[in-house]
Amino acid sequence: MARRRQLYEGKAKILFEGPEPGTLVQYFKDDATAFNAQKKGVITGKGVLNNRISEFLMLRLGEIGVPTHFVRRLNMREQLIREVEIIPLEVVVRNVAAGSLSTRLGIPEGTRLPRSIIEYYYKNDGLNDPMVAEEHITAFGWATPPDMDDIVSLTLRVNDFLSGLFLGVGITLVDFKLEFGRLWEEDEMRIVLADEISPDNCRLWDSKTNEKMDKDRFRRDLGKVEEAYQEVAKRLGILPEAGMRDMKGPEIMQ
Ligand code: C5P
Repeated sequence: MARRRQLYEGKAKILFEGPEPGTLVQYFKDDATAFNAQKKGVITGKGVLNNRISEFLMLRLGEIGVPTHFVRRLNMREQLIREVEIIPLEVVVRNVAAGSLSTRLGIPEGTRLPRSIIEYYYKNDGLNDPMVAEEHITAFGWATPPDMDDIVSLTLRVNDFLSGLFLGVGITLVDFKLEFGRLWEEDEMRIVLADEISPDNCRLWDSKTNEKMDKDRFRRDLGKVEEAYQEVAKRLGILPEAGMRDMKGPEIMQ
């Protein structure tokens, strides 16, 4: 295979130049980080599972008309995506109090929120991804007011759809983080869902026991991290073809 140009390496993924203009290859690593990379580790098989889970969720969202950057999965750890101009925001949706909301506002973890809450964080590791208001976003030009209208309506649709999808397999969608990008086609620009949707950026609790089935198991040293990611894939009916064997998947190809 020809060597590909690496464009960007993040904490959990690597982006390579794609096979044709306007495309990228998104490679999912097993590396895990938390607390702005102060805590580091490896979750064996995570990349393979997240590639598969994110593919599944992006495809289902595409089917209900939510535009995404996803094109197709290439292999165990890679997917082909459309190249987009990433909007530097982490859009967090919360249905149940947990994590930083519970810490910041003293609302006990597990409290069902009176309605879904959307929060914005400015994507900037150097500043520790600070929370921002729509005022900051539009004043500093990270997104325009019409961009924000699209982002909010897409986010609410994603939340409604994914909450139902997960509930159907016995999982409560507590909260999650989305990223959006601008996709240019000719002179037209569309806001599309980007990045990934996986147990790395969602809080997923077993709806009967409230057991955590997401990255909080790594963040909080709860153990059985790999098993939790596998259980999410299993419930969605999408364990990788090889099943539990060979979760390491192929080594990185450059
Ligand atoms: O930490 P916090 O409670 O604000 O996280 C809310 C949600 O956003 C969680 O599901 C978490 O996994 C996700 N998140 C993320 N990336 C970040 C911060 C939060 O995926 N940098």
